Amino acid sequence: MTDNILDKKDLEKSSMEPMVDGKFSFACHPGVPCFTKCCSDLDLALAPYDVLRLKNRLGVSSSDFLDRHTTDEVRHNCGLPMLMLKMTKDSKRTCPFLQSEGCTVYEDRPGACRLYPVARAAKYVGGIVKEQHFLVKEPHCLGFHEEKEWTDKEWLENQGLELYNEMNGLWMAINQSSKENNTPPPITDEKLKMYFMACYNLDMFRKFVFESRLLTLFQIDKRTVSRIRTDETELLKFAFKWLQFAIFGKKTMKPKKSVIQTKKRAMGRR
Ligand code: SF4
Ligand code: SF4
Repeated sequence: MTDNILDKKDLEKSSMEPMVDGKFSFACHPGVPCFTKCCSDLDLALAPYDVLRLKNRLGVSSSDFLDRHTTDEVRHNCGLPMLMLKMTKDSKRTCPFLQSEGCTVYEDRPGACRLYPVARAAKYVGGIVKEQHFLVKEPHCLGFHEEKEWTDKEWLENQGLELYNEMNGLWMAINQSSKENNTPPPITDEKLKMYFMACYNLDMFRKFVFESRLLTLFQIDKRTVSRIRTDETELLKFAFKWLQFAIFGKKTMKPKKSVIQTKKRAMGRR
């Protein structure tokens, strides 16, 4: 028997259906009568890796992207902030990246857009991500009438979701730490600011890493330093490790021995 992540009530409330044998028929292309209908009237939450890809796609700084394209953060159930993409202000609430020819950021579109019409329910259990896939069957989506057959694995590969899922899994582990630590409450405003910067404002986090004493306080090998300096995906992975340490006290970062000794000496003098 499948151990369902979502219970029957969750499924009844949504337009999600379990997949039969992990297979479905679907195609989405400019020829479908509903082309781009799914890019309006939607709430689109952005994960940290979505923000990284989109700000680079648009060639803007993290701060500019956040100012122009995201709404005020909302809290999800773990008490940490989450970003939503700002839609047009008219009644259609259309995605700002949609043009008549389709999605203008297609190669860097958010993970949720790639996954649709598959939905992923995931839970972080004992250090591993447990996931299950469903189909989102909304009346406006006519792609289900197309003949092309997929398994969920084929769909995920075809939509380039591997790296998105890896990054989202690391992010989810932080949100899970928040629940384990029973936060809220009491996550401090200072920690919330740190979380927001490390997850979403990567340009500011880079400055924090390279223009503060942080690299002198922890055991971080030269290869890692070089990678986080030149590769933003690696920098974001480092940001997740930092948050686990700085907010939840996990042993994801190792202070230098000299730093520990100095701290011990200072405590002994008290
Ligand atoms: S990012 Fe692209 S695919 Fe996603 S909602 Fe906007 S236009 Fe549609
Ligand atoms: S509604 Fe469905 S088939 Fe139509 S464009 Fe969106 S994803 Fe493709």
